[in-house]
Amino acid sequence: MGNKLAINGGPKAVAGNPPESLFKWPILTEEDEAAALDVIRNNRFSGIDITEQLQREFAEWQGRKYAIAYCNGTMSLTSAMFAIGLGMGDEIICTTKTYWASISQAINFGATAVFCNIDDMLSMDPNDIERCITPKTKAIMVVHYFGYPADMDPIMEIARRRNLYVIEDVSHAQGGLYKGKKLGTFGDIAAMSLMSGKSFAAGELGMLVTDDRRLYERAMAFAHYERNNATYITDSPELKDYFHIPLGGVKGRANQLCSVLARGQLKYYDERCAEIRRAMNYFWDLLEGVPGIRAIRVDESTGSNMAGWYAPHGTYHPEELHGLPVNRFCEAVRAEIGGICWPGGNYCLHTHKFFQTFDLYNIGKPSRIAFSDRDARADDALCRPSEEKYCYSIPWFKHYMPEWIERYAEGFRKVAENHGELIEGGIDGSKQGGRWYGTTNE
Ligand SMILES: *Cc1c(COP(=O)(O)O)cnc(C)c1O
Repeated sequence: MGNKLAINGGPKAVAGNPPESLFKWPILTEEDEAAALDVIRNNRFSGIDITEQLQREFAEWQGRKYAIAYCNGTMSLTSAMFAIGLGMGDEIICTTKTYWASISQAINFGATAVFCNIDDMLSMDPNDIERCITPKTKAIMVVHYFGYPADMDPIMEIARRRNLYVIEDVSHAQGGLYKGKKLGTFGDIAAMSLMSGKSFAAGELGMLVTDDRRLYERAMAFAHYERNNATYITDSPELKDYFHIPLGGVKGRANQLCSVLARGQLKYYDERCAEIRRAMNYFWDLLEGVPGIRAIRVDESTGSNMAGWYAPHGTYHPEELHGLPVNRFCEAVRAEIGGICWPGGNYCLHTHKFFQTFDLYNIGKPSRIAFSDRDARADDALCRPSEEKYCYSIPWFKHYMPEWIERYAEGFRKVAENHGELIEGGIDGSKQGGRWYGTTNE
């Protein structure tokens, strides 16, 4: 049928180069450049005036009372942990498939990370949360992984019934909706990265939002020395002895070059994301029913959506493709479309030695369990099935350009439908892929 795979010498599904704007992100205009130049020329990096404007605008857009900007998302999440009073011996439940900065900092508070399994959409599986709860559990860290809104109804029900804090890590899903309600407004507190690779991209920046004055003041006091004072800390007497020095011993202030970029991005963010969703949904519509590959996406008629569709991936079902390993599938797709398709997503965190043996305090005990009355590592094996949930990256279209999207979709379809060509010589290996940052993709 003239369908010979490109990896076997056939024609490529995507011939030629797409317009740069199809993938370029973030979108920066002359307006952004002028605002950035003003910060540079007038040495406005270190103040808080632009940041405070951003915080007001962001809180309003987010639909929460308070917003605090930080130098990065990691610091915003660390501050959220401090805000809820995470402390020695506490446990905090986190989905195992996420970026390290959702949960690694728990050891800085002497707390124990407990890992929860993921569901078919690679998000926290609400059915696995109760298994993770002990009398020491203080909080649940929810991540809207790859932009897919975590199933907040059951998660919040469990949290309220068991009296647990909920922190949302919205780094992959700024502006997304779950059943009509904005992500970042479910938990007691939400924190997120706005770094340059994210869908809300503003250089290196983090943001924290909450409606709770006490949590807001604690989050402020943790990392903002110049705002740890009577102007900002009005309702928390226990913090007042410590004005002017950040309680985390860290400096979390946003660089205003990034605050100004964030203000510019915020203005157009919703409309740009809407176009991304139109393009990404079209891509997956074209691939409905193709064996072995399925969308990670929501049915938008439920009022949920995938925000800016950060780090888009699909799930992989090798049993529908005669067991073809995902890394081989991706290799063949890359030959069709010129890169982009890599196996994995983040490796499940519980498999990293950081959470097994690392001894931050130099006391001869793994820090993750240093102050715990049990060994939470023993339960990690229960997350094992999630390692068998395979995925691969797909193109992240920023514009609705149907003729180009069709060619990229054709690359995936062609490999799936002609996978027999890849099986003929036998299946090479069973490595299923994933990644730690700072290494190669496979
Ligand atoms: C990027 C990311 C972070 C960390 O944010 P930085 O701005 O890079 O510090 C935290 N959690 C998740 C899920 C992320 O993807």
